[in-house]
Amino acid sequence: MPLKINQIVSIGYTLTDDEGNVVDSANSAAPFSFISGKNQILPMLEEKLGEMLIGSNKIVVIPPEEGYGIYDENALQKVDRAEFPEDTALEVGMSFFADTPDGKEIPVVIKNIEGNDITLDFNHPLAGKTLTFDVQLLNLRDATAEELSHGHAHGAGGHHHH
Ligand code: ZN
Repeated sequence: MPLKINQIVSIGYTLTDDEGNVVDSANSAAPFSFISGKNQILPMLEEKLGEMLIGSNKIVVIPPEEGYGIYDENALQKVDRAEFPEDTALEVGMSFFADTPDGKEIPVVIKNIEGNDITLDFNHPLAGKTLTFDVQLLNLRDATAEELSHGHAHGAGGHHHH
């Protein structure tokens, strides 16, 4: 059964990649909260949460195609060192945000440096990875009108503002 839409769903999780590296986590002391039915998390993870009871744990394994996509060699781009500020030391593995022509900011990683040739990787950092979520469903409640108008959860695991 899918989750009812417009619920505030609070979860704890440990996300590991293929190599067993912990990529991200949340727990009952610092939960992650989202609004159901709004594509705010990976659809496969949201679907599996709909099969869970509050307080239960589940291991959800998500292949790249259902996660952040397959790794695309065409998303590598070579740029000249001169495109970067002279006083910035560049290293392989360094990440930063690049502006796209339509005004969005996307994360980019330096994949390789050869003299003045800098190879940038525009793939999502988790592209090509099988993701394992050890997830716990902590709480479910109806979203308030204010949360729905803001498009995010307030309170524990949500946004703190106002
Ligand atoms: Zn808000």
